[in-house]
Amino acid sequence: MSQEPITTVSIVSKLSKRYPAAECTLDWNTPLELLVSTMLAAQCTDKRVNQVGKTLYQKYKCPEDFLKVSQEELEVDIHSCGSFRVKARAIQETCTTIINDFDGEVPRTMKQMLTLRGVGRKTAAVVLHTAFGVVEGIPIDTHNIRLLNRLGLADSQNQDKIELQMMETTPKKDWPKLSHLLVAHGRAVCSARNRDCPNCPFQENCPSSQTQGKTDLWKGKKTSKVRKITTR
Ligand code: SF4
Repeated sequence: MSQEPITTVSIVSKLSKRYPAAECTLDWNTPLELLVSTMLAAQCTDKRVNQVGKTLYQKYKCPEDFLKVSQEELEVDIHSCGSFRVKARAIQETCTTIINDFDGEVPRTMKQMLTLRGVGRKTAAVVLHTAFGVVEGIPIDTHNIRLLNRLGLADSQNQDKIELQMMETTPKKDWPKLSHLLVAHGRAVCSARNRDCPNCPFQENCPSSQTQGKTDLWKGKKTSKVRKITTR
């Protein structure tokens, strides 16, 4: 049995080979589209958001467009993404802030992004890196939380706490990659319902590995509260 400890560095190294194209799976043409789609993706699949986006961004091309319609009309347009009332309100208030405080442009720093309603560190980190190449955080989503707990690198359901831990142990250049790779591995091999350990490069040392007769460290933590879009 290999004694190589599992670290975020070894995760990036191993999973980069398996998922060389892992990246943000939301479709976008402008930073505003990416921001809105990332907000819509809370508690929804990227596939659904991409479907909705095809028609949504024909109608809404700039922050002002989102404010020309009533909240109710926007709710209808994003209905299938779920939580549509909260999301519509958050999108319209975010667009108001973008117009009033940032000259109509999506901001480019974490501090500025966090002034937008409904935008937490995960959404901000995704948009900053994907749209602008700015690395100011690690997007910690449900896949990241589950896998990092199973792999024994986290013992928490708290996004902010896990992000801070990962930022301390991961080279900054790898922050976005770590998140995308864990999402890809979570979808393909280590899902919430199924651990396909025989097909996993961490099976020898993972403390949740079925092939080593271990119990699932994530079991019993499924009440995880990943931050949702909320009204503040
Ligand atoms: S060994 Fe099993 S539980 Fe551990 S990360 Fe791989 S698939 Fe998940």
